[in-house]
Amino acid sequence: MKTFPMFLQMQGRRVIIAGGGEQAAQKCRLILKTDAAIILLAPSLDPELSDLHAQGRVEWRKGPIGTADFDDSALVFVATGCPATDACLHMLAKGVGATVNVVDQPHLCDVITPSIVDRSPVVVAIGTEGTAPVLARQIKTKMEQLLEPRLGDLAALAGRLRDRASLRLEPRQRRDLWRWVFSGSVRDKHAKGSEREAAQMIKQAIDTANFGDDTVGSVALVGAGPGSKDLITLRGVQRLQEADIIYYDRLVDPEILDLARRDAERVYVGKAPGCHHWPQDKISGVIVAAAKQGKRVVRLKCGDPGVFARGAEEADALSEAGIAYEVVPGVTAASAASAALGGFLTERGTCDTLMLATGQSAQAGKLPDWMTSMRPGMRVAVYMGVGTAVDIAQGLMGASLAQHVEIDIVSNAQRSNQVVAKCTAETLVQTIKSNAIENPAILFLTWPHAFSRTLMPPQPSQAAC
Ligand code: SAH
Repeated sequence: MKTFPMFLQMQGRRVIIAGGGEQAAQKCRLILKTDAAIILLAPSLDPELSDLHAQGRVEWRKGPIGTADFDDSALVFVATGCPATDACLHMLAKGVGATVNVVDQPHLCDVITPSIVDRSPVVVAIGTEGTAPVLARQIKTKMEQLLEPRLGDLAALAGRLRDRASLRLEPRQRRDLWRWVFSGSVRDKHAKGSEREAAQMIKQAIDTANFGDDTVGSVALVGAGPGSKDLITLRGVQRLQEADIIYYDRLVDPEILDLARRDAERVYVGKAPGCHHWPQDKISGVIVAAAKQGKRVVRLKCGDPGVFARGAEEADALSEAGIAYEVVPGVTAASAASAALGGFLTERGTCDTLMLATGQSAQAGKLPDWMTSMRPGMRVAVYMGVGTAVDIAQGLMGASLAQHVEIDIVSNAQRSNQVVAKCTAETLVQTIKSNAIENPAILFLTWPHAFSRTLMPPQPSQAAC
């Protein structure tokens, strides 16, 4: 290691930032997270820094800068944006032996600021000794996903209860206690917002020296999003990493399963259209059984678990069995498809009503009757509509809607094999055929108030300009 990571004590200390522009503001934002007093040295301040000064959050010295300005500081940032000025200020600061970081000049740096994952008091600092800042940011993103937002509060709670634990428990019991707190149902509960309940559980465990019997499992119905692994929520990733067992659907991308713990069991319970390998009651049954064994179960569904995902049936089975469940929302296919078109699900003045509809009816051979509700200003996002495109097209034409309705098709939205197409009711079937569009796909049927905007972004004009 050419550099050595340490945590600097910041309470009651001063940090000097030389500069009044964007570079200085960046460092200021960072140091504002700490308890240090910030002193800005600059003839003028940009509006952000000026506001901070007006709020009394930073001290501002605008006069000539001398060695004394750097005295007794925990850290000095030199960030004027002018290399020559930076070099002079660096010399002045070194004159009093300050620890200095000169922005973008590694050869003048005693210290390098790491990428930080802040769950204070839990803080992760990532450094690559200046070799690969992009990699540091990627690692940071992974850590952000790994550590739930409330983790710092749980660590702080543990800190407050340390003395109580030391009084009542032997060292070995204390180690077991904290292992139980940070890996079991206490952390789960805390992460989900039940902070008082989590505190009660820890206190009771300390007082009774009884912990470690997580006999009741938990179930999270998690939305995996449309299929690319960066479109699952942080909470979804968190639940995946806690899971002992994951039941997943056909449309869940294998890359998303990679976000789970390596030793978590993965069970495919997919249902291809038309062939129900895993009947719904069997899926509900295995989820209930796993939870009863004390496992942390994730039921991973594509998109959002509340949209055409039969989540309610699984939730009912869990409730009947007395098992608590949590629903973790996901990016539903309509949102993903609309974003893929560079469009917006609703548009002021054009489309003010959005309907999520299905092309498949619970009653075989019958198209659901959403079509009768279509009116100007409405957009219908049709899920599972490719297989019934003939019926949809005929329905639109039969109801004299064809002349009003614009159709956008997005298949495999947000995946590498995404296909988009635009058509009318008359050309829908042919468009699906000629573009070889397959499931999963969303059909947007839009009856705009005025034909001013459409979902598809404008195509570049062929005319030279
Ligand atoms: N719960 C899911 C919907 C499940 S129903 C959600 O909220 O998105 C399955 C249907 O969703 C597919 O037939 C298709 O219509 C749609 N779908 C799922 N993923 C999709 C994707 N990446 N692109 C387009 N449509 C998708």
